[in-house]
Amino acid sequence: MAAHVETIPFSRPFLAPTSIERLAQVLGSDHAHGDGPFTRAASAKLRDILEGGEVLLTTSGTHALEMASRLLGFGEGDEVILPSYTFSSAATAIAMTGARIVFVDIDPATGNIDPELVAEAVSPRTRAISVMHYGGAPVDMAAVLATADAHGGIPVIEDNAHGLGVRSEWGMLGRIGAFGVQSFHDTKNVHAGEGGALVINDERHLDRAEIMREKGTNRSQFLRGAVDKYSWVDWGSSYLPSELNAAVLDAQLAVFDDIQAARHRIWDRYAAELADWAAQVGATLMNPPRGIHAAHLFYLLVPEPDDQTDLIASLREQGIVATFHYVPLDTSTAGRRYGRALRPLVQSEQFSRCLVRLPLWVGMSEAHVDRVIAAVREWRPSRGTG
Ligand SMILES: *Cc1c(COP(=O)(O)O)cnc(C)c1O
Repeated sequence: MAAHVETIPFSRPFLAPTSIERLAQVLGSDHAHGDGPFTRAASAKLRDILEGGEVLLTTSGTHALEMASRLLGFGEGDEVILPSYTFSSAATAIAMTGARIVFVDIDPATGNIDPELVAEAVSPRTRAISVMHYGGAPVDMAAVLATADAHGGIPVIEDNAHGLGVRSEWGMLGRIGAFGVQSFHDTKNVHAGEGGALVINDERHLDRAEIMREKGTNRSQFLRGAVDKYSWVDWGSSYLPSELNAAVLDAQLAVFDDIQAARHRIWDRYAAELADWAAQVGATLMNPPRGIHAAHLFYLLVPEPDDQTDLIASLREQGIVATFHYVPLDTSTAGRRYGRALRPLVQSEQFSRCLVRLPLWVGMSEAHVDRVIAAVREWRPSRGTG
């Protein structure tokens, strides 16, 4: 890469206009630990975006997934259904309880779990179905819930780390299953450095979730005046973020619509300006059903696995950081130890090996986007040319 070319990073964390001001407010107050005014403000904004649900801020999306596993009581002898093509946190949150993971293949049109294969993976040991809305493109929740209901109402966990604020025909993502999980890692559309939220849609879990999040104590009830003293009442951990994180999150949520609009503008340019190139080279652009997604990521699928490294390297030479994504969990070291697949998950494998994600972040200029589009359009598969 020529030294004078500015590198376009794959992702750059967004800085909301009022973040510094809000951080100063926390540091100047006597309340930097969790569950203060910014936790309340950010939780209320999330509830508005999600159109309800009980929202508990957590220290990460991973911790929200762990809470869901504990609340559903997974343990030895249980099975949980999970797509193979997802982030490892969703798997490790199951493995830590002693339950086994049953990995299921994806629908290559979306990268989401294939609902027909969910039905096939259900057994008498199935304790939950954990799905992930890849890029915020909705999983077919009607089909997943139909299977869950046909087997006595198996709880469904929605890992919605990518899809905050997306409305699907089955409701707001993260509000459809028993639990929704949000992540505010700094690579996500809205971030707090690190952070997450557990969205509770089945109120029976709320009391226990509050206790679990407060180190196993009923401190939340005490703070509301519901009990005189607080004490240790159940298993728990320290899952609540500090007010510093909550303040950063609150500043971002205050401009959520602007963030989403900026991301969608970039996504739309990629989709429009790469379409003819994709058709020429036999690549497939991300194209979710009904055009519904969160503009969290933009991917394309190159024709052959070898093209993936080739395209990424060719963009890198022009100072553009593009990247692959999840490596299928069923064939990973831990995946083999903690789970199994009913058969080789060929779609997941192919999707993973052909997928390239392009830079997408708030603050990318039109010139940045022009450069990415031009560089991708220049690339041709090497196959057949020697
Ligand atoms: C980021 C992410 C997580 C984990 O969230 P953390 O906040 O980083 O713990 C889980 N699932 C998916 C799909 C993610 O993208």
